[in-house]
Amino acid sequence: MSDGAASGAGSAGADLRAEVVDDLATLVAFPTVSDRPVTAIAAFLAERFEALGFHIERFDDPVHPGKTNVVCTAGPADTDGIVLSGHMDVVPTAGQPWTGDPFALRRQDDGKLIARGSADMKGFLAASLQGLAALDLRRLRRQVVLVWTHDEEVGCHGSAHLARTLASLDRRLPSACWIGEPTGFEILRKHAGHVGVEVRFHGQAAHSAYPELGANTVVAAGRAIAALDDLSRQWRLRAGPEPDVGSSTSSGVPLNVANVHGGSAINIVPDRCTVQLGFRPLPGMGHEALVQELQACLDAVRLPDGTRLESEVLRVTPSLLTRAGTDLERLLVPHATHPAPGTAGYATDGGNLTQVGCEPLIFGPGSIKVAHQADEFVDVSALQSAVAQITSVVRGRCMG
Ligand SMILES: [Zn+2]
Repeated sequence: MSDGAASGAGSAGADLRAEVVDDLATLVAFPTVSDRPVTAIAAFLAERFEALGFHIERFDDPVHPGKTNVVCTAGPADTDGIVLSGHMDVVPTAGQPWTGDPFALRRQDDGKLIARGSADMKGFLAASLQGLAALDLRRLRRQVVLVWTHDEEVGCHGSAHLARTLASLDRRLPSACWIGEPTGFEILRKHAGHVGVEVRFHGQAAHSAYPELGANTVVAAGRAIAALDDLSRQWRLRAGPEPDVGSSTSSGVPLNVANVHGGSAINIVPDRCTVQLGFRPLPGMGHEALVQELQACLDAVRLPDGTRLESEVLRVTPSLLTRAGTDLERLLVPHATHPAPGTAGYATDGGNLTQVGCEPLIFGPGSIKVAHQADEFVDVSALQSAVAQITSVVRGRCMG
């Protein structure tokens, strides 16, 4: 397709509409629920973008076979162009009241395109294929980098691994970074992070008739949970680097004691207990200092004699706080439903991508309100708008 066709009317517009919908149908047919491999969809995207003229790299997760990130580059290196990014995985459909096969795209007369991942976020992937096909990549004056990740939905593991790998290679990505999560074309520039921690208690088992011979880890966990509850009240009053009155971030740092597993039988003093908890650093807030505070809180707990605890950070999804007024924001505003950037209520790959020089903004077709639900959908008109936006923004950033 020639340069400029994306915004064309008449038959060119009709072709475009058909092509982006066909691509979405292909993409949603890969059942990439996060516990499955992404090998096939990664191969499809690699082949398609390679055909457009992109150079393809894969960054495989060394521990989990079948998990890979695809990075596609075009245009002159080290020119601070633009990143387009999205995740290839989707959330499960089991137990949800779908009215058809979630992995077969259904096209309704009202323009709704229904399938798992249609909004979150294979719609943006499909729009990228068409939006970039409309450009002559040989004319790029700045680099375009596409970052397609795995396992975003289960803790942004793919982007975490990718950011670590790129940092170890001393590679930076362009600062303008567009993450096409479904925001209903609202620009979002910040979100809280999420940190998962496990606390393991070790004690001594004994017959319950002789408790003095044992060391009770469930009692130990109870005392620790009471201390964590006190800490959570303190953290609710904590202000972030950029307090945002009236939004979900106004209530401080939420700390949630999520589950407790301990003990085996009613007549045995329990020698093992595990507590898992999570907390959400505010936009722009690092997690290390909070982890240290948490550890100090746990260290101060008066545990029953003979018990001890150890803690481990299981996962970290960094928060995001991109400054207002970036060049990408300026390029997205004409396409946005509101001119002022807002706050996402969920975490994204954006926090990890800041580690390699990105200033991510979240903006894309479809609504987060239908994501993760039965009969998730994106409107064909939104998809079509996204195609034209991608063409226009990439041209503005990299061909101007
Ligand atoms: Zn998503």
